[in-house]
Amino acid sequence: MTLRARLLLAQAPLALALLLVGVVAVVTLSQLGRSGPRVLQDNYRSVLAAQEMMAQLERMDSGALFIIAGERQRGLTQQAAQRARLESQLRVQEGNVTEPAEDAATLRLRTSWRRYQEAYDGFLAQSSPEGAREAYFGVLEPAFQEVTGAARAILDLNQDAMVRKSEALQRQSARVNTVMVAAVMVAFVVGLFASQSLTHRALRPVSVLSQAVRRLGEGDYAARAVVEGQDEIAQVGRDFNAMAEALQQYRRSSLGELLQAQAASQAAIDSLPDPVVVFGADGGLLNVNRAAEDVLRLSLEAGGDMLGQVVPEARAVLERVREHVLTGRGAYQPRGYEEAVRAPLPDGDRWLLARGSPVHGESGEVVGATVILQDVTRLRRFDELKNDLVATVAHEFRTPLTSLRMALHLVTEGVVGPVTEKQADLLFAAREDSERLQGIVDDLLDLSRIQAGQLQLEIRRVPAEELVDAALDAQRMAAEERGVQVSKQVGLDVEPVDVDPERLGLVLGNLVGNAVKHTPPGGEVEVHVWQESHGVRFEVRDTGEGIALEQQARIFEKFYRAPGAPAGGAGLGLSIAKDIVQAHGGDIGVVSTPGQGSTFWFTLPRREESGPASV
Ligand code: ADP
Repeated sequence: MTLRARLLLAQAPLALALLLVGVVAVVTLSQLGRSGPRVLQDNYRSVLAAQEMMAQLERMDSGALFIIAGERQRGLTQQAAQRARLESQLRVQEGNVTEPAEDAATLRLRTSWRRYQEAYDGFLAQSSPEGAREAYFGVLEPAFQEVTGAARAILDLNQDAMVRKSEALQRQSARVNTVMVAAVMVAFVVGLFASQSLTHRALRPVSVLSQAVRRLGEGDYAARAVVEGQDEIAQVGRDFNAMAEALQQYRRSSLGELLQAQAASQAAIDSLPDPVVVFGADGGLLNVNRAAEDVLRLSLEAGGDMLGQVVPEARAVLERVREHVLTGRGAYQPRGYEEAVRAPLPDGDRWLLARGSPVHGESGEVVGATVILQDVTRLRRFDELKNDLVATVAHEFRTPLTSLRMALHLVTEGVVGPVTEKQADLLFAAREDSERLQGIVDDLLDLSRIQAGQLQLEIRRVPAEELVDAALDAQRMAAEERGVQVSKQVGLDVEPVDVDPERLGLVLGNLVGNAVKHTPPGGEVEVHVWQESHGVRFEVRDTGEGIALEQQARIFEKFYRAPGAPAGGAGLGLSIAKDIVQAHGGDIGVVSTPGQGSTFWFTLPRREESGPASV
């Protein structure tokens, strides 16, 4: 059955009740309506006939009196006219016997009427006035009383009946009222109840369906609507179930894939030996790997300020890198091992070097930051080992080298006896090498002092140009030998710098020396100096061979020498320069395009802003 049919059916009881009340009303009203005419028909005609007959009897009687009074002719006409009329009225009455006792009364009237006529005929047959009078008072008058009484009886009978019927009608109408009110009420209650229950039954599937929809909305993907039948709601129910089934399957599969993907990515970052921390766009912790949990004691479950449990140094670095990446400044790369922070662990300290990279959203905006804390403990140990080695070697070399140089000097000068020309050549070469060795040992000593934190800067205020001139003068000979042109360009507004002139001379000398060394004949080396808002910037530009990108990051390391670099150096110059510049609170770096030359730069901040005076 369709929903429309069911709803129509639900209306049926009310309609039926209405119909019933209507039928009852029509029947009762028509019954009532019919009672009025019937009274008219039943009794009113009899009343009229009786009255009529009584009047005619009166006339007949007065006709007789006329005759007695000597007006015979007039009396005769009068009584003759009335007889026929009375007869016809009597017939009417005889044809309208309706009341129970009326039959007998009518019969009585008929009989007494016949007698009255006979008496009247007898009266008329009297020829003498005395006879007539006698007949009148003796026979006619009693017959008259009798017939009039009979007619009156019929009149009373019918009048009584009318009064009775009118009262009965009133009672009936009051009863009809009550019945109607009762019928309306019963029909209304029964109809309403039946309609309500039918509507409820018709709409029950809708509530089943709506419950299922609600459960599905709340995430219960197993929710189904059990709606039987063939109507529209059952069809919607079947469609809903199909949809829920598809959703459930989709969710099962997508959830499975998601979980798998999530497990795979978690496993991937867990397998990394270095701590990995993932931050959301709001800076909150999104994910950490196992190493981060172990080394940093970070845990996602901890809640609250989760970075609070991390050791302060590591926490500061994490916050700095997070800030760098989330404010859209791109990936964060550390500048060197010296940025590594210590994380104390039961089995010894760990040194961690932070690197950060942004996580991009669909439209390219930064939605998070991944920070990897590379474990550089071994590298740092290795570095310390290098430092120890440098210090020991430099220290141990110094004394024997001094006596070696002294001995070579004395022998070359012929102090201890004459030397042949051939011997002198060899001795010169040996002396030159020992001088170079001395240079290397000096470098090493400088380095070991710097590394050991013993480098004491003797700060003085000097014009930048003075430093440049000194460096260029020292290298001019070598440059001329190589056929390289050296020049300088110092801005007029450059302020004097507060530096240790000897150390900084070493830096500039090193940079200019390297530039000359790596520039082919005919090339140029320029030193530029200009004022910047935070301090002074120095640049040493050459037109030499340049440095490959992968080597640029490494040339500032200790003992690093580019493959194919000319013999002589120990790979320490740039490392020392870096330490000295950093000790002045500045920065150093290189920009180079292989084949087109290199630009080494360093900055010196204004003294009041600079960092520590020693390392
Ligand atoms: P070294 O004393 O051995 O030159 P440095 O620390 O001064 O050591 O330099 C390290 C390496 O950097 C060198 O081996 C060289 O290859 C490279 N280098 C330094 N300066 C320049 C330059 N101006 N042009 C090309 N390469 C350079």
